[in-house]
Amino acid sequence: MTAAPSRIAIVGVGKIAVDQHLPAIAANPDFTLAATVSPNHPGFAETPHFKTLDALFASDVAVDAVALCTPPQVRYDLAAQSLARGTHVFLEKPPGATLSEVAALVAEAEASGATLFASWHSRYAAGVEPARVWLADRKIRSAAIVWREDVRVWHPGQAWIWEAGGLGVFDPGINALSIVTRILPRPFFLQTATLFTPANRAAPIAADLGFRDTDGVTITMDLDWRQTGPQSWDITVETDAGTLALAKGGAVLTLPDGEQHAQDEEYPGLYARFATLVRERRSDVDVRPLQLVADAFLRGHRQSVETFDE
Ligand code: NAP
Repeated sequence: MTAAPSRIAIVGVGKIAVDQHLPAIAANPDFTLAATVSPNHPGFAETPHFKTLDALFASDVAVDAVALCTPPQVRYDLAAQSLARGTHVFLEKPPGATLSEVAALVAEAEASGATLFASWHSRYAAGVEPARVWLADRKIRSAAIVWREDVRVWHPGQAWIWEAGGLGVFDPGINALSIVTRILPRPFFLQTATLFTPANRAAPIAADLGFRDTDGVTITMDLDWRQTGPQSWDITVETDAGTLALAKGGAVLTLPDGEQHAQDEEYPGLYARFATLVRERRSDVDVRPLQLVADAFLRGHRQSVETFDE
């Protein structure tokens, strides 16, 4: 017998909820959209809509799960409130504004028996899993991440991203770290960082980082939000068997014997994973990408740069 679909509410109806979560839920028979919650969005015809999560939980609309698509700064309270009543929680990336609040959520999920899923959508890009498999048997010599995009194109009007806890250029940069922590076989850690922050903002617009793995292999990372023209979301790994290149945020994999394209299944993949976790009553919370970003804020040098206005 197949289980009834989980009744899920989307909390935070912004860009990612509309672009990715709604279509992925509509296409997955394990979920049915029960409600939306967002303070200013008007909601959608035929789906109950609430301005706050309190209002949803006080209503007679039943939900088994929530997908938290808000900015990270407000996510802890929404997640804790949901877990406390046994509601499963899908966290957009990054899983929180601090590591300690995510640790608290893990404990709260364990206590409640509900599933907590810290999602990393870029890990579901088409090239990532084959890259991980290929690298497992190789001697790695170095790796380089170049993530350069135009913030005016990709994050227009997102005031939260420039505030403390919004991560600035690490909001996209953490996606690269979610891939690299998945495909490289050994742990790595931050050695150097310079964060370039506009004089009128709280979060960096660019960053240069250096990491080293436990075998001494160096990994460089170049993040910049001031890129106009061609955009770069590239990861290159030099090995004893040649160069592995992941382009377009992990979607296109090039190995020494040629290029591999496949259909990207990022959000369908995330919802399939969430369904499995809910069914098996398990959580999945990998904080390594957020740990590396936190280390950059902890150990990095700060440079003030030109003010940024949209
Ligand atoms: P966004 O467009 O600014 O949307 C966030 C929405 O959250 C806002 O529209 C706001 O709704 C709502 N919100 C704020 N506080 C809330 C609260 N207390 N309760 C309920 N809703 C609240 O941001 P986004 O780009 O979708 O990003 C959201 C998260 O997804 C971020 O963590 C981001 O890193 C991640 N993400 C974004 C992308 C992307 O391409 N944009 C890709 C992957 C992941 P109202 O408009 O109703 O006020």
